[in-house]
Amino acid sequence: MNISGSIKETRQQVKEWKKQGLTVGLVPTMGYLHEGHQSLMEKAKKENDKVVVSIFVNPIQFGPNEDFASYPRDLEKDAALCERIGVDLIFHPEAEEMYEKDFCTYVDMDGLTKELCGKSRPTHFRGVQTVVSKLFHIIPADRAYFGQKDAQQLAVIKRMVRDLSMDIEIVGCPIVREEDGLAKSSRNTYLNQEERKAALVLNRSLAEGKKAIESGVREACKVKQCILDVIAKEPLARVDYVEIVDFSAIEPIADLNMAAEGEILCAIAVYIGKTRLIDNFIMKINS
Ligand code: AMP
Repeated sequence: MNISGSIKETRQQVKEWKKQGLTVGLVPTMGYLHEGHQSLMEKAKKENDKVVVSIFVNPIQFGPNEDFASYPRDLEKDAALCERIGVDLIFHPEAEEMYEKDFCTYVDMDGLTKELCGKSRPTHFRGVQTVVSKLFHIIPADRAYFGQKDAQQLAVIKRMVRDLSMDIEIVGCPIVREEDGLAKSSRNTYLNQEERKAALVLNRSLAEGKKAIESGVREACKVKQCILDVIAKEPLARVDYVEIVDFSAIEPIADLNMAAEGEILCAIAVYIGKTRLIDNFIMKINS
């Protein structure tokens, strides 16, 4: 397995593979890899001849008061995991390699990015789309793998690829959880013991919301209230948002039967102490 920080070298290697008629899968990450990332890499490995994992803590997707500086990093451990899985190349650039001093070109979107995480992180998706576009240009892969853990991001990337006619298939992968239900996340390392227990409220509250929908509730406000009631009982939790949107448009809907393609996304962001965690479920609604 090769590790490269160079755009030129990485592009050359991938182009060489393409010339040989090999298929390439790309897994974009910010590193500090866990079983969630691993599931994406394993799927990429199964479906492609070569797998590239990018590890890059992308400064432009963090807001000024967010955790860019403290975001956990461990390249050695990440590389060992990639090696074990059979990844062929890690692209691990420095920020200066990705963003020249006078960098000023961004990829942005009118829809899909304003709700949910876009409300409290107004420049986040512009940063994500820009870096993912750059990665797609540097690594001309056949397929790229994204987790449903970041469901809004998955919808945004799919839309960007469609709208800009990018020649790559976006593959969504299910959320991987800890045994007790907490969605795996690099940010879980910020939690102390007490907060780790409190963080279970995300999955627990979503389960209540799901139960309500399964029992026939179709008013979004009632489902949201079920979720909020569970979160309110956890003293360490503070809600950023609890929202139900049409998954294809990432726009709030009042009536769950109104999702254009029949699929709703119920997404939450909750602070546990100072750590902001997200979780969600996607559901097909049969009216
Ligand atoms: P990150 O390193 O957090 O930017 O995540 C890189 C990719 O891994 C994204 O597509 C995430 O959605 C995905 N991912 C992160 N956590 C999980 C998880 N628990 N289950 C599935 N995919 C995940």
